[in-house]
Amino acid sequence: MSALIVIVEDETDLVVNLEYNLRREGYQTKSAQTGVAALNLLAQDPVPDLVLLDVMLPHLSGIEICRNLRLDERTRHVPVLMLTAKGEEIDRVVGFEVGADDYVLKPFSVRELMLRIRAILRRSEPVASEGGEITFGVVKVDSDSHRAWVEGKEVVLTALEFRLLMTFLDRRGRVQTREVLLSDVWGIDADVTTRTVDTHVKRLRQKLGAAGEYVETLRGVGYRWRAQPDEVGA
Ligand code: CA
Repeated sequence: MSALIVIVEDETDLVVNLEYNLRREGYQTKSAQTGVAALNLLAQDPVPDLVLLDVMLPHLSGIEICRNLRLDERTRHVPVLMLTAKGEEIDRVVGFEVGADDYVLKPFSVRELMLRIRAILRRSEPVASEGGEITFGVVKVDSDSHRAWVEGKEVVLTALEFRLLMTFLDRRGRVQTREVLLSDVWGIDADVTTRTVDTHVKRLRQKLGAAGEYVETLRGVGYRWRAQPDEVGA
């Protein structure tokens, strides 16, 4: 079965263009042009494999739709790729807060969008894993013994750095805001600021040496571990 992609976008030209290109890539598509139509469509079976979600929509914003998807058990895990206008930094930040997986700035090239979609869909495939061991490019991690290696050499990590690394690996290809990392790695009640996250990511990157480049910084947003080891920086 080819993946089903739901397009939520109010610009008809863009919908037509996206449908054409996605189908040519072998995906199935469905589309909605208003917020309300989108909610109706997303309530239907089957659950899509990915949602392309415009932020500015009639009736209901893409942010509200994303929030709705995340609140519903049925659609909680569906990847959401936001389409945001250039300069609307706030949309991106809020988008990640409500659970969007990635974003593309409008106007975007179709080629770039297809690559992002492919990367997100590929992410649902598991990393090579054997008895608690995970390999990602030059990094190897043993989640049972809490040990990590880069290019075959062991890297000594603190418990917190190890947790940070595992969080990145689990969510590879997905942008993680400082706030999310703070609550998931440190715990919501931890008495630390988002700056602490930056400090630890910096240190983890240094310790990882050659693998440090797998961690990408998204200014004003957070961090992202590459979806694939050979991915060229986005
Ligand atoms: Ca729009």
